Amino acid sequence: MTIKLGVSACVIGDKVRFDSGHKRSHFVATELEPFVEFVPVCPEVSIGLPVPRPTIRLLDRGEPIGVRLVETKDADADHTAKMVEFSKKKAEHLAGMELCGYVVCAKSPTCGMERVKVYRENGYVASEKIGVGLYTQQLMERMPWLPIEEDGRLNDPVLKENFVFRIFALRDFYDSMAEGISRRAIVEFHSRYKLVLMAHCPTEYKELGKFVADIANHDIDEFFAEYRTRFMQAIAKRATRKNNTNVLMHLQGYFKRALDKQQKAELADLIHAYRKGTMPLLAPLTLINHHLNQNPDAYLQQQCYLHPYPDSLRLRYGL
Ligand code: SF4
Repeated sequence: MTIKLGVSACVIGDKVRFDSGHKRSHFVATELEPFVEFVPVCPEVSIGLPVPRPTIRLLDRGEPIGVRLVETKDADADHTAKMVEFSKKKAEHLAGMELCGYVVCAKSPTCGMERVKVYRENGYVASEKIGVGLYTQQLMERMPWLPIEEDGRLNDPVLKENFVFRIFALRDFYDSMAEGISRRAIVEFHSRYKLVLMAHCPTEYKELGKFVADIANHDIDEFFAEYRTRFMQAIAKRATRKNNTNVLMHLQGYFKRALDKQQKAELADLIHAYRKGTMPLLAPLTLINHHLNQNPDAYLQQQCYLHPYPDSLRLRYGL
C-alpha cells in the first residue's frame, strides 16, 4: 500500500512562501517521491493568507496572553486563533487517514518542528530552544506516534535513515492490520521487529515484550493505540553502534552450527570492524543475509532489521 507522507507544500516545490518562492528538498521531492504519496499542506495559504504575503513570526506577549502568531511589521495582525483552529481540524483529519510520516519546513513559525525563533515585544529573540510552529505543534499533540522531521535535518544521514525507516515501519504496521486489528496481528508484527527494537531501544524492547505478552488482558483497540505510540517512539531513538553490534552478535549466534571455522572468523571480523567504526553496518549485514540465503531460518527471514526498506534508497551505506 502507498506510504502517505504529509509535507509542507513548499518542501516539494510549491511556490507558496511569503515571497512567492519555495524550499524544494531534493531528497524529498526526488529520491523519496517514488515510494510515497504526498499529502501537501500549506497552513498559511489554507487560512487565507495570500502569496506573496507579509512575513509572520512567533511573538511572546508574556502572561497571560502567551505566544502569538503575528505579522512582523504589524503585531496587531494576529493569526493565532485561525491557525490553531485550522491546525486542530487538519490534524484530526490526517489522523484518520493512516498517514505514515510528515516532513515539515524548518524555522517556519507555522511549520517548524523545533528551535523556531520566538521574539519579545522589544524585537529580541526570547528563546530559540522552545519554539515550535503552531501547525506542527498540533500535529505532534494529535499524533504522538507520527514520524515528523524537518527538511534540513534530512541532510544528516543518520536522521534521514531513521526517518525513512520509521515511515516504512508505520506503513508495515498498518498493512499488518489490513484484515482488522487483532491480537494475533499485533503479536506477529511485534515478533518481526524484535531485532529492530533491540537495536533502537533495549529498555523498551523488554518493556514492550512484557506488554505484548499481556495482550490478552487488554481491550484490543486501546492496546493498538498504546502499542503504536510506544513502538514508534522507541524506534525514533537512534540505533547506536553498540546496540547494532549486540544485534549482529545475536544474529551471529544463529549460524553457530551452519558455518565453518573460516566463515565464522570472517563474520566475526566484519562485526568487529563495524564495532570499531572501520566498516559500515551494511558490510556484516550483507554477509549475514548471504549466509541466511544459504541456511534459511524462518524467524530470521521475517526480521525487518535485515530488510527495513528498499535497498535502492541506499540509506545504510554511510552508517
Ligand atoms: S513553511 Fe509551511 S506555511 Fe510556510 S510556506 Fe511552507 S508550507 Fe506554507
